[in-house]
Amino acid sequence: MAGDALIDVLVVGSGAAGLAAAVAAGHAGARVAVATKTTLQACNSAKAQGGIQAAFGEDDSPELHAEDVMRSSHSTADPRLVEVLTSDARDAIAWLEAQSCAFTRENGGYRLARCGGASRKRLLQVGDRTGHAITKALRDSFGAGDGAILAHHRLTCLEPISTGWRASFETPEARAEVETATVVLASGGRCFAEAENRGEFSTNHPNATGETTRIAADAGAETRDLDALQYHPNGGAWPATMQGYSIPETTRAYGAVLLNVEGDEFTDSLGPRDEVSQAIFDEIEAGRGVLTEDGRPAVWLDTTRIAPEDAVISLPYMLRRYRGGGIDPLTERILTYPVLHYQNGGLVIDTNAETTLAGVFACGEIAGGTHGRNRMMGNSLLECVVFGRRAGTHAATKAKA
Ligand SMILES: Cc1cc2nc3c(=O)[nH]c(=O)nc-3n(C[C@H](O)[C@H](O)[C@H](O)COP(=O)(O)OP(=O)(O)OC[C@H]3O[C@@H](n4cnc5c(N)ncnc54)[C@H](O)[C@@H]3O)c2cc1C
Repeated sequence: MAGDALIDVLVVGSGAAGLAAAVAAGHAGARVAVATKTTLQACNSAKAQGGIQAAFGEDDSPELHAEDVMRSSHSTADPRLVEVLTSDARDAIAWLEAQSCAFTRENGGYRLARCGGASRKRLLQVGDRTGHAITKALRDSFGAGDGAILAHHRLTCLEPISTGWRASFETPEARAEVETATVVLASGGRCFAEAENRGEFSTNHPNATGETTRIAADAGAETRDLDALQYHPNGGAWPATMQGYSIPETTRAYGAVLLNVEGDEFTDSLGPRDEVSQAIFDEIEAGRGVLTEDGRPAVWLDTTRIAPEDAVISLPYMLRRYRGGGIDPLTERILTYPVLHYQNGGLVIDTNAETTLAGVFACGEIAGGTHGRNRMMGNSLLECVVFGRRAGTHAATKAKA
């Protein structure tokens, strides 16, 4: 494909954001290629369990959703991006359903849960494999079109040319170059690499190394809040096979609470993520933590308070994982400790998902602003779909202009 002039939109990354952008650009009539570091399936998005937010409850609205995002971000999010995120949410869910993603339903509507920092029940789920379901539906949709797939293409450089952009890649065979009118960067965050540097656990896929952010910044793109990394309050701490696993926040949505060594609740278990993580760190610092069998600090997550019927519908994968490790979360408490999880900041974008470089779009975890310095659970998958669609559509329009 070196020097191939038949590309309108080049998408870099095959998580939920890249796939949503690629499908949307294809629908807008563009000739699309998706380049991705390893396989099409490899990404953080497919690991997402809990769900995706959208204001469907009778007592809910996009405005209340936006208020929750701003409050959880401590007013550091960009209100224009938040307005887009929350007001496009219901349409994004309908669009996913049109790509054959089937959300869990009950009583004639969606099964909704309340996630940390939310004032209403707003989290749609597909069991506890929501990211898997969304990425599979989008991969199938993209595969049904005539877009090209460049697997095992790792982006190494991006440079402007008279007709748009030239992207350079490392492949197992040799270097490759692709010329394109517009680019959508959807290469995710950097928490796997960051955790390795810190000697900590991470929930992330090994491909989450963040080099694309640096490549875009080197090309002149503005960034924001890059230092704001998020700890998921509930990493698995024991058994060893669960270390680095992100215990879905839906455990707490369905009644699990955090307890210290004395069995006392020490924080609002459904507070914003940064506050819950900090409360755990503080409790352990104050000597009220629990030690795991291999001597690591932890606190209890009392999952025995979850009703079995909720767990069967919304936490089957988590139950299977723990029971496989010899612990039944419905009859005994589990040990947890915060784990490096998400890059809150990233490339600056506008409401069309265009970066400060003309013709370079960004969506998903690589983009900053939508969550400010503290993301709410369930808003990342939403951001991938809402801004992925915008990025793909506007990149296609610009490419053909
Ligand atoms: C365990 C876990 C559970 C989560 N649960 C939830 C949840 O319930 N709800 C929610 O909203 N969010 C959740 N999140 C967060 C959310 O899933 C991610 O932030 C989001 O899916 C990121 O999507 P993305 O498309 O931006 O990036 P990713 O899905 O990470 O995809 C990035 C893609 O870019 C590719 N790539 C990387 N570098 C390069 C390069 N140099 N060249 C080419 N390709 C490259 C990668 O291989 C990958 O295909 C969870 C995250 C994790 C890890």
